[in-house]
Amino acid sequence: MINFLQEYLRIDTSFPQPRYDDVIALFVRQAQKDGFLYEIVSLGNDYSVLVITMPGSDQSLPSLVLSHHMDVVPIVDYTSWNHDPFGGIVNDGIIYGRGTQDMKGIGVAQYFALKKFLSEQGTLKRTVHLVLLPDEERGGFDGARRFVEHPYFKKMNIGYALDEGIPSGNSSFLHIKVSERKPIQASFISHGSMAHGSRINVKNAAHELVAFLRKLATFQDCQQLNTLGQPAGLLLSVNITSLQFGTIKEGAVALNVISDTATATVDIRVPPTMKLQDASDYLKKLVDRYPAISYKIEATVQERSYDPIFRNDFYQSLERAVQKHSLAVQPLHAEESSDLRFYLQKGIIGFGITPFTCKENLHGTNEFITIKDLEMGRDIFCTIIKDFCA
Ligand SMILES: [Zn+2]
Repeated sequence: MINFLQEYLRIDTSFPQPRYDDVIALFVRQAQKDGFLYEIVSLGNDYSVLVITMPGSDQSLPSLVLSHHMDVVPIVDYTSWNHDPFGGIVNDGIIYGRGTQDMKGIGVAQYFALKKFLSEQGTLKRTVHLVLLPDEERGGFDGARRFVEHPYFKKMNIGYALDEGIPSGNSSFLHIKVSERKPIQASFISHGSMAHGSRINVKNAAHELVAFLRKLATFQDCQQLNTLGQPAGLLLSVNITSLQFGTIKEGAVALNVISDTATATVDIRVPPTMKLQDASDYLKKLVDRYPAISYKIEATVQERSYDPIFRNDFYQSLERAVQKHSLAVQPLHAEESSDLRFYLQKGIIGFGITPFTCKENLHGTNEFITIKDLEMGRDIFCTIIKDFCA
Protein backbone atom coordinates (compact mmCIF):
# COMPACT_ATOMS: atom_id res chain seq x y z
CA MET A 1 0.00 0.00 0.00
CA ILE A 2 2.78 2.44 0.87
CA ASN A 3 4.66 1.65 -2.34
CA PHE A 4 1.48 2.09 -4.31
CA LEU A 5 0.85 5.52 -2.77
CA GLN A 6 4.47 6.48 -3.50
CA GLU A 7 3.97 5.57 -7.15
CA TYR A 8 0.73 7.53 -7.25
CA LEU A 9 2.37 10.62 -5.71
CA ARG A 10 5.08 10.49 -8.39
CA ILE A 11 2.46 11.02 -11.10
CA ASP A 12 2.06 14.79 -11.34
CA THR A 13 -1.67 15.45 -11.69
CA SER A 14 -1.57 19.22 -11.26
CA PHE A 15 -2.79 21.60 -13.92
CA PRO A 16 -2.16 22.49 -16.69
CA GLN A 17 -1.07 18.94 -17.63
CA PRO A 18 -2.56 16.45 -15.18
CA ARG A 19 -1.37 12.92 -16.02
CA TYR A 20 -4.72 11.21 -15.44
CA ASP A 21 -4.07 8.41 -17.93
CA ASP A 22 -1.04 7.29 -15.95
CA VAL A 23 -3.10 7.22 -12.74
CA ILE A 24 -5.83 5.17 -14.40
CA ALA A 25 -3.19 2.78 -15.79
CA LEU A 26 -1.68 2.39 -12.30
CA PHE A 27 -5.04 1.51 -10.70
CA VAL A 28 -6.12 -0.71 -13.60
CA ARG A 29 -2.92 -2.78 -13.28
CA GLN A 30 -3.60 -3.22 -9.56
CA ALA A 31 -7.31 -3.98 -10.07
CA GLN A 32 -6.47 -6.65 -12.65
CA LYS A 33 -3.98 -8.19 -10.23
CA ASP A 34 -6.54 -8.22 -7.42
CA GLY A 35 -9.40 -9.45 -9.60
CA PHE A 36 -11.70 -6.42 -9.38
CA LEU A 37 -14.04 -5.40 -12.17
CA TYR A 38 -13.39 -2.00 -13.65
CA GLU A 39 -14.71 0.39 -16.26
CA ILE A 40 -13.07 3.42 -17.85
CA VAL A 41 -15.85 5.92 -18.48
CA SER A 42 -15.03 8.57 -21.06
CA LEU A 43 -16.56 11.93 -20.24
CA GLY A 44 -16.61 13.13 -23.84
CA ASN A 45 -13.95 15.76 -23.17
CA ASP A 46 -10.32 14.74 -22.80
CA TYR A 47 -10.97 13.09 -19.44
CA SER A 48 -12.10 9.73 -18.15
CA VAL A 49 -13.34 8.39 -14.84
CA LEU A 50 -12.19 5.03 -13.53
CA VAL A 51 -14.78 2.94 -11.69
CA ILE A 52 -13.59 -0.14 -9.81
CA THR A 53 -16.39 -2.39 -8.66
CA MET A 54 -16.97 -5.20 -6.22
CA PRO A 55 -20.51 -6.40 -6.89
CA GLY A 56 -22.87 -7.31 -4.07
CA SER A 57 -25.18 -10.31 -4.02
CA ASP A 58 -28.30 -8.15 -3.66
CA GLN A 59 -28.51 -5.94 -6.73
CA SER A 60 -31.69 -4.31 -5.45
CA LEU A 61 -29.70 -2.51 -2.73
CA PRO A 62 -28.47 0.95 -3.76
CA SER A 63 -24.69 0.86 -4.06
CA LEU A 64 -22.03 2.65 -2.03
CA VAL A 65 -19.44 4.83 -3.77
CA LEU A 66 -16.07 5.68 -2.28
CA SER A 67 -15.04 8.64 -4.39
CA HIS A 68 -11.77 10.49 -4.74
CA HIS A 69 -10.31 13.01 -7.16
CA MET A 70 -7.02 12.33 -8.94
CA ASP A 71 -5.92 15.92 -9.49
CA VAL A 72 -3.87 18.00 -7.07
CA VAL A 73 -3.19 21.71 -6.83
CA PRO A 74 0.06 22.94 -8.41
CA ILE A 75 3.19 23.72 -6.43
CA VAL A 76 3.70 27.47 -6.15
CA ASP A 77 7.17 27.47 -4.63
CA TYR A 78 9.27 24.32 -4.93
CA THR A 79 12.06 25.76 -2.80
CA SER A 80 9.87 25.93 0.29
CA TRP A 81 9.33 22.15 0.24
CA ASN A 82 11.74 20.01 2.27
CA HIS A 83 11.13 17.05 -0.09
CA ASP A 84 10.25 16.75 -3.74
CA PRO A 85 6.43 17.17 -3.74
CA PHE A 86 6.21 14.61 -6.57
CA GLY A 87 8.95 12.33 -5.25
CA GLY A 88 6.84 9.99 -3.13
CA ILE A 89 9.33 10.37 -0.28
CA VAL A 90 8.90 8.33 2.90
CA ASN A 91 10.98 9.34 5.87
CA ASP A 92 10.68 8.29 9.52
CA GLY A 93 7.09 7.04 9.27
CA ILE A 94 5.91 10.07 7.29
CA ILE A 95 4.82 10.13 3.64
CA TYR A 96 5.44 13.50 1.99
CA GLY A 97 3.95 14.78 -1.22
CA ARG A 98 1.33 16.85 -2.97
CA GLY A 99 -1.95 15.00 -2.61
CA THR A 100 -1.15 12.90 0.44
CA GLN A 101 -4.08 14.58 2.24
CA ASP A 102 -5.97 15.94 -0.78
CA MET A 103 -6.70 13.30 -1.78
CA LYS A 104 -4.46 10.58 -3.17
CA GLY A 105 -3.82 9.19 0.32
CA ILE A 106 -7.57 8.79 0.82
CA GLY A 107 -8.04 7.13 -2.58
CA VAL A 108 -5.30 4.62 -1.78
CA ALA A 109 -6.79 3.90 1.67
CA GLN A 110 -10.17 3.31 -0.03
CA TYR A 111 -8.69 0.92 -2.59
CA PHE A 112 -6.71 -1.10 -0.06
CA ALA A 113 -9.74 -1.26 2.24
CA LEU A 114 -11.68 -3.01 -0.52
CA LYS A 115 -8.72 -5.30 -1.19
CA LYS A 116 -8.44 -6.10 2.51
CA PHE A 117 -12.16 -6.80 2.71
CA LEU A 118 -11.92 -9.13 -0.30
CA SER A 119 -9.10 -11.13 1.28
CA GLU A 120 -10.75 -11.33 4.72
CA GLN A 121 -14.43 -11.75 4.05
CA GLY A 122 -14.89 -12.00 0.34
CA THR A 123 -18.58 -11.42 -0.24
CA LEU A 124 -20.74 -8.33 -0.22
CA LYS A 125 -24.47 -7.83 -0.11
CA ARG A 126 -24.36 -4.23 -1.29
CA THR A 127 -22.22 -3.32 -4.31
CA VAL A 128 -19.22 -1.07 -3.63
CA HIS A 129 -17.72 1.17 -6.31
CA LEU A 130 -14.47 3.08 -6.11
CA VAL A 131 -14.63 6.18 -8.28
CA LEU A 132 -11.56 8.14 -9.48
CA LEU A 133 -12.49 11.59 -10.76
CA PRO A 134 -10.60 14.31 -12.66
CA ASP A 135 -10.84 18.08 -12.31
CA GLU A 136 -12.06 18.61 -8.74
CA GLU A 137 -9.59 21.37 -7.99
CA ARG A 138 -10.94 23.49 -10.85
CA GLY A 139 -14.51 23.05 -9.63
CA GLY A 140 -15.38 19.61 -11.03
CA PHE A 141 -17.11 21.09 -14.08
CA ASP A 142 -15.10 18.89 -16.46
CA GLY A 143 -15.14 15.95 -14.05
CA ALA A 144 -17.84 15.06 -11.52
CA ARG A 145 -20.45 17.34 -13.09
CA ARG A 146 -20.21 15.46 -16.38
CA PHE A 147 -19.90 12.07 -14.70
CA VAL A 148 -23.21 12.37 -12.80
CA GLU A 149 -24.96 12.97 -16.13
CA HIS A 150 -23.34 9.95 -17.83
CA PRO A 151 -25.51 6.90 -18.60
CA TYR A 152 -22.96 4.72 -16.76
CA PHE A 153 -23.56 6.72 -13.58
CA LYS A 154 -27.24 5.83 -13.68
CA LYS A 155 -26.39 2.17 -14.19
CA MET A 156 -24.34 2.21 -10.98
CA ASN A 157 -27.53 2.63 -8.90
CA ILE A 158 -25.77 4.74 -6.27
CA GLY A 159 -27.54 5.37 -3.00
CA TYR A 160 -24.65 6.45 -0.84
CA ALA A 161 -21.40 8.31 -1.44
CA LEU A 162 -18.30 9.07 0.59
CA ASP A 163 -16.00 11.88 -0.49
CA GLU A 164 -13.28 13.93 1.20
CA GLY A 165 -13.39 15.80 4.48
CA ILE A 166 -10.42 17.27 6.30
CA PRO A 167 -7.87 15.69 8.66
CA SER A 168 -8.80 16.27 12.29
CA GLY A 169 -5.37 17.35 13.57
CA ASN A 170 -6.23 15.56 16.80
CA SER A 171 -5.44 12.00 17.82
CA SER A 172 -8.75 11.57 19.65
CA PHE A 173 -11.33 12.24 16.93
CA LEU A 174 -12.13 12.36 13.22
CA HIS A 175 -14.41 14.71 11.33
CA ILE A 176 -17.36 13.52 9.32
CA LYS A 177 -18.36 16.23 6.89
CA VAL A 178 -22.14 16.56 7.03
CA SER A 179 -22.66 19.69 4.94
CA GLU A 180 -20.99 22.08 2.55
CA ARG A 181 -21.75 25.67 1.70
CA LYS A 182 -23.02 26.59 -1.75
CA PRO A 183 -20.99 29.08 -3.81
CA ILE A 184 -22.33 32.06 -5.74
CA GLN A 185 -19.56 33.82 -7.62
CA ALA A 186 -20.58 37.18 -9.05
CA SER A 187 -19.04 40.14 -10.86
CA PHE A 188 -20.13 43.73 -10.29
CA ILE A 189 -19.60 46.59 -12.67
CA SER A 190 -20.06 50.22 -11.82
CA HIS A 191 -20.65 52.75 -14.60
CA GLY A 192 -19.67 56.43 -14.34
CA SER A 193 -18.15 59.05 -16.56
CA MET A 194 -14.59 59.42 -17.71
CA ALA A 195 -13.16 62.70 -16.46
CA HIS A 196 -10.04 64.54 -15.45
CA GLY A 197 -8.86 63.54 -11.98
CA SER A 198 -9.12 67.11 -10.77
CA ARG A 199 -12.92 67.39 -11.16
CA ILE A 200 -15.24 67.65 -8.18
CA ASN A 201 -18.63 67.25 -9.83
CA VAL A 202 -18.16 63.95 -11.59
CA LYS A 203 -19.96 60.59 -11.46
CA ASN A 204 -17.08 58.47 -10.26
CA ALA A 205 -17.66 54.76 -11.00
CA ALA A 206 -15.02 53.67 -8.51
CA HIS A 207 -16.59 55.63 -5.64
CA GLU A 208 -19.98 54.02 -6.18
CA LEU A 209 -18.41 50.56 -6.29
CA VAL A 210 -16.35 51.20 -3.16
CA ALA A 211 -19.49 52.32 -1.29
CA PHE A 212 -21.21 49.06 -2.24
CA LEU A 213 -18.19 46.92 -1.39
CA ARG A 214 -17.91 48.66 1.96
CA LYS A 215 -21.35 47.23 2.81
CA LEU A 216 -20.15 43.74 1.94
CA ALA A 217 -16.95 44.16 3.94
CA THR A 218 -18.91 45.36 6.99
CA PHE A 219 -21.20 42.34 6.71
CA GLN A 220 -18.17 40.05 6.49
CA ASP A 221 -16.67 41.69 9.60
CA CYS A 222 -19.86 40.82 11.51
CA GLN A 223 -19.74 37.24 10.26
CA GLN A 224 -16.17 36.93 11.51
CA LEU A 225 -17.42 37.83 14.97
CA ASN A 226 -20.24 35.32 14.57
CA THR A 227 -17.75 32.48 14.08
CA LEU A 228 -16.99 32.81 17.78
CA GLY A 229 -20.43 31.37 18.52
CA GLN A 230 -21.14 29.01 15.62
CA PRO A 231 -19.37 26.94 12.96
CA ALA A 232 -18.14 28.97 9.99
CA GLY A 233 -19.70 26.37 7.72
CA LEU A 234 -23.16 27.46 8.88
CA LEU A 235 -22.66 31.16 8.16
CA LEU A 236 -23.15 33.20 5.01
CA SER A 237 -19.91 34.81 3.83
CA VAL A 238 -18.89 37.35 1.21
CA ASN A 239 -15.32 37.85 0.10
CA ILE A 240 -14.19 40.43 -2.43
CA THR A 241 -11.80 38.50 -4.67
CA SER A 242 -10.73 41.10 -7.25
CA LEU A 243 -10.99 44.80 -7.93
CA GLN A 244 -10.25 46.79 -11.04
CA PHE A 245 -10.70 50.48 -11.69
CA GLY A 246 -10.79 51.08 -15.43
CA THR A 247 -8.06 49.62 -17.59
CA ILE A 248 -4.60 50.64 -16.58
CA LYS A 249 -2.35 49.67 -19.47
CA GLU A 250 1.16 48.45 -18.84
CA GLY A 251 3.54 51.26 -18.03
CA ALA A 252 0.92 53.94 -18.57
CA VAL A 253 -0.71 54.48 -15.18
CA ALA A 254 -3.04 57.39 -15.57
CA LEU A 255 -2.90 59.06 -12.20
CA ASN A 256 -5.11 61.92 -13.28
CA VAL A 257 -7.87 60.09 -15.14
CA ILE A 258 -11.18 59.05 -13.60
CA SER A 259 -12.23 55.87 -15.34
CA ASP A 260 -15.80 55.32 -16.51
CA THR A 261 -15.97 51.77 -15.14
CA ALA A 262 -14.93 49.89 -12.04
CA THR A 263 -15.37 46.16 -11.55
CA ALA A 264 -15.13 43.69 -8.69
CA THR A 265 -15.68 39.97 -8.24
CA VAL A 266 -17.14 38.52 -5.07
CA ASP A 267 -17.21 34.96 -3.74
CA ILE A 268 -20.35 34.32 -1.70
CA ARG A 269 -20.86 31.12 0.26
CA VAL A 270 -24.36 30.16 1.27
CA PRO A 271 -24.78 27.87 4.29
CA PRO A 272 -26.86 24.68 3.95
CA THR A 273 -29.50 26.17 6.23
CA MET A 274 -30.19 29.01 3.77
CA LYS A 275 -31.78 28.73 0.33
CA LEU A 276 -29.69 29.85 -2.65
CA GLN A 277 -32.71 31.83 -3.87
CA ASP A 278 -32.92 33.76 -0.58
CA ALA A 279 -29.23 34.63 -0.82
CA SER A 280 -29.57 35.91 -4.40
CA ASP A 281 -32.71 37.89 -3.50
CA TYR A 282 -30.82 39.53 -0.67
CA LEU A 283 -27.94 40.33 -3.01
CA LYS A 284 -30.27 41.84 -5.60
CA LYS A 285 -31.95 44.03 -2.99
CA LEU A 286 -28.57 45.29 -1.86
CA VAL A 287 -27.28 46.06 -5.37
CA ASP A 288 -30.54 47.79 -6.32
CA ARG A 289 -29.65 50.54 -3.87
CA TYR A 290 -26.72 51.44 -6.15
CA PRO A 291 -28.22 52.32 -9.55
CA ALA A 292 -24.82 52.70 -11.23
CA ILE A 293 -23.91 49.10 -10.47
CA SER A 294 -25.01 46.06 -12.46
CA TYR A 295 -24.01 42.51 -11.67
CA LYS A 296 -23.83 39.05 -13.14
CA ILE A 297 -23.73 35.68 -11.42
CA GLU A 298 -20.74 33.98 -13.04
CA ALA A 299 -20.94 30.61 -11.31
CA THR A 300 -23.18 28.89 -8.83
CA VAL A 301 -24.55 25.43 -8.05
CA GLN A 302 -27.91 23.72 -8.04
CA GLU A 303 -29.96 23.82 -4.88
CA ARG A 304 -29.89 20.64 -2.84
CA SER A 305 -31.80 19.50 0.14
CA TYR A 306 -30.22 19.56 3.56
CA ASP A 307 -31.32 17.49 6.48
CA PRO A 308 -30.31 19.22 9.72
CA ILE A 309 -30.82 15.86 11.44
CA PHE A 310 -28.15 14.12 9.43
CA ARG A 311 -27.87 11.06 11.68
CA ASN A 312 -29.34 8.57 9.21
CA ASP A 313 -28.34 4.88 8.96
CA PHE A 314 -25.36 5.65 6.77
CA TYR A 315 -24.03 8.32 9.13
CA GLN A 316 -24.46 5.98 12.08
CA SER A 317 -22.54 3.28 10.26
CA LEU A 318 -19.67 5.71 9.62
CA GLU A 319 -19.75 6.78 13.24
CA ARG A 320 -19.61 3.17 14.47
CA ALA A 321 -16.65 2.45 12.17
CA VAL A 322 -14.68 5.43 13.49
CA GLN A 323 -15.52 4.63 17.11
CA LYS A 324 -14.42 1.03 16.59
CA HIS A 325 -10.97 2.45 15.95
CA SER A 326 -11.10 4.23 19.33
CA LEU A 327 -11.79 7.67 17.92
CA ALA A 328 -14.69 10.01 18.57
CA VAL A 329 -16.61 11.70 15.76
CA GLN A 330 -17.09 15.42 15.26
CA PRO A 331 -19.63 16.43 12.60
CA LEU A 332 -18.14 19.04 10.30
CA HIS A 333 -20.02 21.78 8.48
CA ALA A 334 -17.48 22.58 5.77
CA GLU A 335 -16.84 26.11 4.57
CA GLU A 336 -15.83 24.96 1.09
CA SER A 337 -17.44 22.52 -1.30
CA SER A 338 -16.10 19.47 -3.16
CA ASP A 339 -17.25 16.88 -5.70
CA LEU A 340 -19.69 15.66 -3.06
CA ARG A 341 -22.16 18.33 -4.14
CA PHE A 342 -22.67 16.65 -7.53
CA TYR A 343 -23.65 13.39 -5.83
CA LEU A 344 -25.98 15.24 -3.44
CA GLN A 345 -27.67 17.03 -6.34
CA LYS A 346 -28.66 13.60 -7.64
CA GLY A 347 -30.44 12.82 -4.38
CA ILE A 348 -27.67 10.54 -3.13
CA ILE A 349 -26.96 10.46 0.60
CA GLY A 350 -23.37 11.53 1.05
CA PHE A 351 -20.76 12.56 3.58
CA GLY A 352 -17.09 13.42 3.58
CA ILE A 353 -14.43 11.65 5.56
CA THR A 354 -10.66 12.06 5.62
CA PRO A 355 -9.65 9.27 8.02
CA PHE A 356 -6.41 10.94 9.14
CA THR A 357 -5.54 12.56 12.44
CA CYS A 358 -2.52 14.54 11.20
CA LYS A 359 -2.47 18.34 11.08
CA GLU A 360 -4.64 19.71 8.28
CA ASN A 361 -2.48 21.04 5.44
CA LEU A 362 -4.64 20.91 2.32
CA HIS A 363 -2.95 22.69 -0.59
CA GLY A 364 -0.06 23.61 1.75
CA THR A 365 3.70 23.31 1.67
CA ASN A 366 5.19 20.00 2.87
CA GLU A 367 1.80 18.25 2.76
CA PHE A 368 2.12 14.87 4.48
CA ILE A 369 0.38 12.00 6.22
CA THR A 370 1.83 9.41 8.56
CA ILE A 371 2.01 5.72 7.66
CA LYS A 372 -0.05 5.13 10.80
CA ASP A 373 -2.79 7.39 9.44
CA LEU A 374 -2.77 5.63 6.07
CA GLU A 375 -3.12 2.21 7.70
CA MET A 376 -5.81 3.41 10.08
CA GLY A 377 -7.64 5.03 7.16
CA ARG A 378 -7.65 1.77 5.24
CA ASP A 379 -8.94 -0.11 8.29
CA ILE A 380 -11.71 2.42 8.93
CA PHE A 381 -12.90 2.22 5.31
CA CYS A 382 -12.74 -1.57 5.57
CA THR A 383 -14.93 -1.46 8.70
CA ILE A 384 -17.40 0.81 6.89
CA ILE A 385 -17.62 -1.68 4.00
CA LYS A 386 -18.18 -4.55 6.44
CA ASP A 387 -20.73 -2.68 8.53
CA PHE A 388 -22.73 -1.11 5.74
CA CYS A 389 -22.34 -3.45 2.78
CA ALA A 390 -21.56 -6.98 3.95
ZN1 LIG B 1 -9.70 17.64 -2.52
